[in-house]
Amino acid sequence: MNIADYKGIWVFAEQREGKLQKVSLELLGEGKRLANELGVKLTAILLGNNVEGLASTLGEHGADEVLVAESPELEHYTTDGYTKVICDLANERKPGIIFIGATFIGRDLGPRVAARLSTGLTADCTSLAVEVSNGALLATRPAFGGNLMATIACPDHRPQMATVRPGVFAKSTEKNTEFVVKNVKVQIEPSDIRTQVLEIVKANKEIIDIGEAKVIVSGGRGVGSEENFGLLKQLADILGGVVAGSRAAVEKGWIDAAYQVGQTGKTVKPIIYVACGISGAIQHVAGMQDSDMIIAINKDETAPIMNVADYGIVGDLNKVIPEMITQLKEIQEA
Ligand SMILES: Cc1cc2nc3c(=O)[nH]c(=O)nc-3n(C[C@H](O)[C@H](O)[C@H](O)COP(=O)(O)OP(=O)(O)OC[C@H]3O[C@@H](n4cnc5c(N)ncnc54)[C@H](O)[C@@H]3O)c2cc1C
Repeated sequence: MNIADYKGIWVFAEQREGKLQKVSLELLGEGKRLANELGVKLTAILLGNNVEGLASTLGEHGADEVLVAESPELEHYTTDGYTKVICDLANERKPGIIFIGATFIGRDLGPRVAARLSTGLTADCTSLAVEVSNGALLATRPAFGGNLMATIACPDHRPQMATVRPGVFAKSTEKNTEFVVKNVKVQIEPSDIRTQVLEIVKANKEIIDIGEAKVIVSGGRGVGSEENFGLLKQLADILGGVVAGSRAAVEKGWIDAAYQVGQTGKTVKPIIYVACGISGAIQHVAGMQDSDMIIAINKDETAPIMNVADYGIVGDLNKVIPEMITQLKEIQEA
């Protein structure tokens, strides 16, 4: 492999049922920044069937070029199908870097593509940088249970690959107007795909995306019970927000895992994050520290959450939250 042959940054544009996943647009924002630093092209790779209509959105969000790979065999995501098409394209066009969103699909696809291309992948990165002199990707992610941040490079293989969770980067605020859309030839046969999608069954409960919420009232072990999460819901309703939780609360079964904030949950950046009965372990803080305003309610004034809180209320949440609800109602009714 001649490393110098590999140039440009690719972003896997994940779509499901014709809807782009927001992490792909976030990756285009960060990809654009890095591509500008390196002086290379940013390319979005869009796979599916009848998805070309999404290409302009990818261009507007920063892609210089959108490669559209369409086939009936790509209608639904399959590991085999998507891996083959991306690897064929990568072998032919030799990108220097490939970014993939760490969604359920991205976490399945990324390692498979990396293994097939005999390269390395850094998963769940929280920051990305490049070395302009040699095009190296420096991918940073929490390691050893979040106790240190490791910056990982892949010096001997290309493409360099990384996955990033939704919410870590912001979408570009500038609208890109100059981009090209290219349809690429897909060589894929039904026999290339060893699995068959028989039916897609959606969860019948409606999951709110806490990554998009402006106000989050989050509960931890200190909330004490599932019933007490009702109190948090009342506060969230008054503030126009949603309820989330720490891993301890999820493990207790008080709240669904889809609402877990932190290193192994979601990364959130609301305007207001109210942490109720949450100690502020590093793995939790990693997912909410970029919130605009953090309000912590904890009976222990030395709890680590107080170090990241803009406002710390020391007291029993069973007394503090009802008082907050009463006062907020009074303000709203005044
Ligand atoms: C690899 C790894 C990944 C992890 N990923 C995550 C993650 O994504 N998200 C996450 O949250 N955790 C994660 N954890 C777990 C994390 O280390 C902590 O164990 C967890 O965050 C603790 O949850 P907690 O703050 O709710 O509970 P605790 O640490 O038990 O804190 C409870 C807090 O409630 C306060 N309290 C108790 N009663 C009251 C009351 N009546 N009123 C007010 N305050 C009260 C206490 O003072 C205490 O500060 C991870 C751990 C590992 C090892």
